[in-house]
Amino acid sequence: MKTVLVVEDELKIARLVRDYLHQAGFAVVQANDGLSALALARSKKPDMIVLDLGLPEMDGLDVTRRLRETSSVPIIMLTARSEESDRIVGLELGADDYIVKPFSPKELVARIRAVLRRADATLGGGEMIKVGSVTIDIPKMRVTVGESEIELTATEFQLLITLARHPGRIYSRSQLLDALHGVSFESYERSVDAHIKNIRRKIESDPRRPQLVLTVYGVGYKFADA
Ligand code: CA
Repeated sequence: MKTVLVVEDELKIARLVRDYLHQAGFAVVQANDGLSALALARSKKPDMIVLDLGLPEMDGLDVTRRLRETSSVPIIMLTARSEESDRIVGLELGADDYIVKPFSPKELVARIRAVLRRADATLGGGEMIKVGSVTIDIPKMRVTVGESEIELTATEFQLLITLARHPGRIYSRSQLLDALHGVSFESYERSVDAHIKNIRRKIESDPRRPQLVLTVYGVGYKFADA
């Protein structure tokens, strides 16, 4: 059974999410502030964290930043409609996905499953991708560029392998979102840009002048033909 850590200070929402996740067959651990979330993330080692951005004292962005120093556990942010810029910052800090309040618990469960599938998918199949200086060992979730090993989140990894499997092929943002979610909900296209920005920061020698993950203006992205 997969364990989800739910971090939410609004009791009503926390309870609703917990009940839904129980029904969907997840074990649930709960925290209502950032520090206890970090402590529980360490002690309980959840498979996934659902993290409210608007928390008292240490907010969700700080929690994400701290978590990402040591862990690549999947994170889905819960955000208010007004928190659009925070949401992008959160994705750039390495959160995997977000969902806007008020949300349907059904959609949250679907998102959690999609992100977990993504994390698990990378474990199966003995596939290896090699394009130019980039080597991707899919079962080990390991990316090396030249001699250096790169640490990616499950989402970044999934995006990178989607692009790198077919170098030169152009993907629109919505195709890339499909590759991530398996289902398309409303448009979250800007989140693709944030993940791409992270991947570039990690794998490109000059992220401002990418040589590997290329922008195709007005269309989307492609992995460079070696
Ligand atoms: Ca809150």
